[in-house]
Amino acid sequence: MYSPKPFPYSKVTGISDKTLEIHHDKLYVGYVNKRNEIEDKLIKADRTQANGTYSEFGELKRQESFAAAAIILHEAYFNILGGNGEPGGDLVKQIEKDFGSLEDWVTDFKACGLVARGWVVLAYDLNDGRLHNYICDAHNQGGIWGAIPVIVLDTYEHAYMIDYGSDRKAYIETFMKDLSWDEANRVFAKVAKVSLS
Ligand code: FE
Repeated sequence: MYSPKPFPYSKVTGISDKTLEIHHDKLYVGYVNKRNEIEDKLIKADRTQANGTYSEFGELKRQESFAAAAIILHEAYFNILGGNGEPGGDLVKQIEKDFGSLEDWVTDFKACGLVARGWVVLAYDLNDGRLHNYICDAHNQGGIWGAIPVIVLDTYEHAYMIDYGSDRKAYIETFMKDLSWDEANRVFAKVAKVSLS
């Protein structure tokens, strides 16, 4: 059984409590509840009827990865909110190494935010020991195996429509100002010690 992780809305300045309540309490908690329901149903699902076009087992397996990725990405997104947007730490040094400069990374990350249909993830890829900006068009489509999310941006309309209408660009600017580099460095310090090569 998975339990939803709490999220203190008060630390975020540029996104309204209403947006964050809906996003966290309804949507994110909904993914946690569905993952539990799916895993429960998978215990008894009939494997003898497995079929590539449709089967109860196949549908449960597809939605299992959808719900799991939704939980992981949303938790990383909520965790990264509520900072002061001041870049620093070893993560910035790695960004400068892998993207040329912090400015180049910011430009690329924001551009990714405009093209993604779901998520932008600054990930530390254990396969090559480098940072990459990856995008996902659905929770469970586009993720790279072995790449660990460090900074995660939700670009679905539900993340900003109430506060910014269709102005995704303004929402991304807000996200960068609300970004916690302390949290990003905390995650990066853990994953930077790991290597697959
Ligand atoms: Fe979301």
